[in-house]
Amino acid sequence: MRMRERRKNQTAREKFRQTQELSVKDLIMPVFVKEGISGKKEIRSMPGIYQFSLKEAVKEATRIYKTGIPSIILFGIPLARHKDAIGSGAYDQAGILPQAIRAIKKVVPKLNLIADVCMCEYTSHGHCGIVKGGDVDNISTIKILAQIALLYAQAGADMVAPSAMMDGQVKAIKDGLVRNNYSKVKIMAYSVKYSSGFYGPFRDAAESSPQFGDRRTYQMDYHNSDEAILESKLDIKEGADIIMVKPALGYQDIIYKTKKELKFPVACYSVSGEYAMIKAASLKGYLDEKKIVLEALTGFKRAGADFIITYYAAEAVKKWMKNKK
Ligand SMILES: [Zn+2]
Repeated sequence: MRMRERRKNQTAREKFRQTQELSVKDLIMPVFVKEGISGKKEIRSMPGIYQFSLKEAVKEATRIYKTGIPSIILFGIPLARHKDAIGSGAYDQAGILPQAIRAIKKVVPKLNLIADVCMCEYTSHGHCGIVKGGDVDNISTIKILAQIALLYAQAGADMVAPSAMMDGQVKAIKDGLVRNNYSKVKIMAYSVKYSSGFYGPFRDAAESSPQFGDRRTYQMDYHNSDEAILESKLDIKEGADIIMVKPALGYQDIIYKTKKELKFPVACYSVSGEYAMIKAASLKGYLDEKKIVLEALTGFKRAGADFIITYYAAEAVKKWMKNKK
């Protein structure tokens, strides 16, 4: 065997390439829409990523759609005075996210719109549900998550993405959708969401830091991998259409294992901290940004991800991906 024969020039390398080239169709771009601002505001720890006003979010969604990226995932950020202990802003018809969904769907109806379903952006304590006795109460929380998901479906979301890591949340949401004739709305479940230090910058972006404690009573311990399969199986049984692994970098074994064992559509979420690391090092001139981003994204695909949620989606497509379709 002369292994270097396979690598001797570009033609040979392409011929022996195993994982398909990254495609724009693989990508999902996160978009933050914030109540009560005009224009857009850059996120301190994520240069190049913004919180958008309602109007700007519609323009941004249109720009993303024009690049060929088929999907966005939307996060809403209410005014601080609209946050309360029970996150009521999350299930308000006039809330920021239902408004944004309606406005975007009107202008770019073909863009696949995924709405994140959680309460942490809307609660004064920053936890992902109703707190009772110092911990998030599962039963009361999943009832509300089901209401939120239905509201987003009614506003026009194509898909809902429950991210609270509550037991039974997918079933509660699915039942609510089916009962109200929204069974065509799909569920991308944050099935395998680790409690991770990589989420730091997101909390600047979504203004959702927990005001006490942390999320370890509901998010997964990163020492565990069999649990990823168990969580995914439960979500599939409850009605998920796509399961998700989050974060992505540092968790490619989990993406691989999930895909290999379950043979089910898998998304991975390359999170804010992954973006911030590469962006900061690139701005300093320590890394070649293009090389690193394409290498990382291709790595997720090689591991088995069918969909990649990344803050680099729009930039990568615009600047660096030659194979766009
Ligand atoms: Zn949350």
